Amino acid sequence: MTTTRDYYDVLGVGKSADADEIKRAYRRLAMKHHPDKNPDDKEAEAKFKEAAEAYEVLSDDSKRKIYDQYGHDGLRGQGAATHDFNRMNVDDIFSMFNDIFGGGGGGGFGGQARGGRRASARGYDLETQVSLTLEEVLSGTSKDVEFTRMDVCETCTGSGAKPGTTPETCSQCGGQGKVQQAGLGGMFRMVVACPACRGSGKIVKDKCGTCHGRGRTGKKRSLSVKIPAGVHHGQAVRVQGEGEPPAAEHSPDGTGVRGDLHVVVRVEDHDLFERDGDHLLMEMPISFTQASLGADVEVPTLEGSEKLTIKKGTQYGELLRIEGAGLPNLRSGRRGDLIVVVKIETPKKLTSKQEELLRAFAETEDKHVNPESHGFFKKITDLLGG
Ligand SMILES: [Zn+2]
Ligand SMILES: [Zn+2]
Repeated sequence: MTTTRDYYDVLGVGKSADADEIKRAYRRLAMKHHPDKNPDDKEAEAKFKEAAEAYEVLSDDSKRKIYDQYGHDGLRGQGAATHDFNRMNVDDIFSMFNDIFGGGGGGGFGGQARGGRRASARGYDLETQVSLTLEEVLSGTSKDVEFTRMDVCETCTGSGAKPGTTPETCSQCGGQGKVQQAGLGGMFRMVVACPACRGSGKIVKDKCGTCHGRGRTGKKRSLSVKIPAGVHHGQAVRVQGEGEPPAAEHSPDGTGVRGDLHVVVRVEDHDLFERDGDHLLMEMPISFTQASLGADVEVPTLEGSEKLTIKKGTQYGELLRIEGAGLPNLRSGRRGDLIVVVKIETPKKLTSKQEELLRAFAETEDKHVNPESHGFFKKITDLLGG
């Protein structure tokens, strides 16, 4: 993603704007900032791309929903693929939203073809994973990641040629990397990558021993990656430019744009807490006397413990809430709650004193209870003649 501005602000519409309103707003901005109308104006181009990005998200119901809930970061995970408009040329963005400009691929802006403008070579994106505890989700953290990526060979600085030698210009394409081919029986001519040099324009005679002429070698890379507080399982943090450089044939000297590294977050299960959005859930056993008479108890939290008052007559399964003891929202930073699910434990063993008291209590309830177990079983064994 290229912008951190609020998409609604970018398009200048309200949060409840409908599809038509969003479309109109985007069309208006795209017209205003289109590079054809603002030649050599980098700022206009950036605005044009920013508007396209906002429109892509807000015009798609499912992406808009994710954005509304989790903000920009939400779109990085959740499988909501969005385009990187910074890396796209204006024509491609244009044809992407062709329908709202009345079709004709660039019509409406003078209709001229904008050939010849090629996006620079770009390398592959990489993906790696990190595991976080709930405590780390709470505070946000930095994680060291180590991964292997194909990188420019240091021995030959990416040329693939043995040090001291230089690649020769490809004779078949004259160094252009492209050759023309007749298409459809000579009806027209197509330009394809040169088969002799695979598009690089260069032929390597003496290959570099380190990379065997490929110009790239696998290299370990370590990085410290900042993971924001409130991140969700499955979301990814994008580290721009930490992917691979473009393939050697597209960029022999290693220039061009590197891909990105996507660090996918896994959140580990916790012994006590279960996550529900920004809330935490926890089951807490209390005794039936605490439930009946009320009590002050200590409840464990991610940061220590908090006092919680159990009211008289609390029921099994009741939900008690400790406000703000949950996780921070990724977007707003506002913390969710800790929700305590009450479980009431029945004592398995009673002292004779406790049993006596409980029986006296039962009598006041006028409820049927079983006779004293010891005597009861004795009577049965007597009955069976044992
Ligand atoms: Zn090499
Ligand atoms: Zn060639």
